[in-house]
Amino acid sequence: MMAGEMRQPAERRVGNQAVVIGGSIAGLLAARVLADHFDQVTIIERDIYPAEPDFRKGVPQGRHLHVLLLRGLQILNQFFPGLEDELAAAGAPQTDLLGDTLIFTIAGQLPRFKSGVTTRFCSRYLLEWLIRRRLEQNSRIVFRDGCEVINLLANDTSSKIVGVELRFRQGASEAARERDRLGADLVVDASGRDSHAPEWLASLGYGRPRETVINSFLGYATRWYKRPEGFEHDWKGVNVGPHVPDKPRGAALFEVEGGRWVVTLAGIARHYPPIDAPGFLEFARSLTEPVIYEAINAAEPISPIYGYRRTENRWRHYEEMARWPENFLLMGDAMCAFNPVYGQGMSVSAMEALVLEKCLRELQRAQGRNFTGLGRRFQKRLKEVIDTPWLLATGEDFRWPETEGGKPGRVTRLMHQYIDQVIKLSTADRHTALVFVNVLQLTVGPAALFQPAILFPALGQFIRRK
Ligand SMILES: Cc1cc2nc3c(=O)[nH]c(=O)nc-3n(C[C@H](O)[C@H](O)[C@H](O)COP(=O)(O)OP(=O)(O)OC[C@H]3O[C@@H](n4cnc5c(N)ncnc54)[C@H](O)[C@@H]3O)c2cc1C
Repeated sequence: MMAGEMRQPAERRVGNQAVVIGGSIAGLLAARVLADHFDQVTIIERDIYPAEPDFRKGVPQGRHLHVLLLRGLQILNQFFPGLEDELAAAGAPQTDLLGDTLIFTIAGQLPRFKSGVTTRFCSRYLLEWLIRRRLEQNSRIVFRDGCEVINLLANDTSSKIVGVELRFRQGASEAARERDRLGADLVVDASGRDSHAPEWLASLGYGRPRETVINSFLGYATRWYKRPEGFEHDWKGVNVGPHVPDKPRGAALFEVEGGRWVVTLAGIARHYPPIDAPGFLEFARSLTEPVIYEAINAAEPISPIYGYRRTENRWRHYEEMARWPENFLLMGDAMCAFNPVYGQGMSVSAMEALVLEKCLRELQRAQGRNFTGLGRRFQKRLKEVIDTPWLLATGEDFRWPETEGGKPGRVTRLMHQYIDQVIKLSTADRHTALVFVNVLQLTVGPAALFQPAILFPALGQFIRRK
């Protein structure tokens, strides 16, 4: 049974107050789970939330194309039954990822057929707003927006976090004091890539986590368009991938709510797309496929062009720390942020929320209100969730010699060769295309790519190539 379907009676809850730092996708999902196990959950968000679905400064990536992978949508539908209907009502088109999308790979276009692998294309801020609206109806959840966590508060021995120190921002609805403190039985840091947890933990004597950073120097440039009336097309999305070694440019165009197209151009290995209008169009024209250029050339832009370059894969290895405060957890980009081109971040946050749910249920069964070992257990289990998306994201980055943060080993190089064959096979074989797309949607593990129906033809292809 999912979180929220079963309300815990008071005596079965594991604590009184939980605090979530950061009210974006990971923080909202954490709150959704915590509300079933705590009397009160307070979400501290430094931004003042907009009243309508809209961009906000604390999530600068929100202006760029965000794909909700099928695995993410499935989990969101479980946490918030009916959410997909709300997305539909808001105009987010249902999209069959093979039937409605043109996917151009290194080996050609994937076949188009009704695959049943469907998700909803929408803006990131619509999705966040719908989730937030649901949580606002939950009487156990309190939002404190316009408020920033500036430190953790610990007990005398620093073995336990007892709360957080806050600073209200100007214009905050409750802005009364400059500083405040909020006690907590459990604190979850979901404050994204810029999380201050490494410094906070170091100042409490825990040291800093080891970090793995793998950077392929990918840059984005994004512009929003009004879908032109009468423009003949039979797709809802187009994806043109970059190709090693000499085609570092890629792009995606997705139709989202409001009859809009969001177009993101991407350049890897420092081939950053320009953010001036002629340069943007020219970059689109230079892609290996003309379809995106032809579409945007016929469309009216409704936004400036936004650039973005903070795209490195960054894993803070909290799961390895020798000592850990038992009631402090981290999730989302605060623990591990991915190269966004594979669209994994929000869905991984949703998978992590499932882990949180499982850990809290176990805690409740085994120990009630004793958090001993929870933090370590949770961070170690997140590693299991992160491993596959990390492999997918960094594995592709390692194809580029310009990538910094490590070199591909023999196994990775063999994997590249195998995946090339799988992609080639996908362009001609529907079953392989379906499995391949499901792996990318995180609905099946990469092991599925080694099933006999794919392995043998892929190897045959490879041998014939030699
Ligand atoms: C360019 C780009 C494109 C992307 N595309 C996709 C995609 O297609 N699909 C996908 O699934 N993911 C994508 N991602 C990743 C996705 O945006 C994140 O993984 C997702 O938003 C979850 O992040 P998060 O909630 O952990 O952190 P964030 O979304 O970064 O949110 C952190 C929140 O914490 C708040 N905050 C920060 N510090 C404090 C503090 N001290 N006190 C209080 N509040 C604080 C911030 O204001 C913010 O609201 C993309 C990322 C980038 C950079």
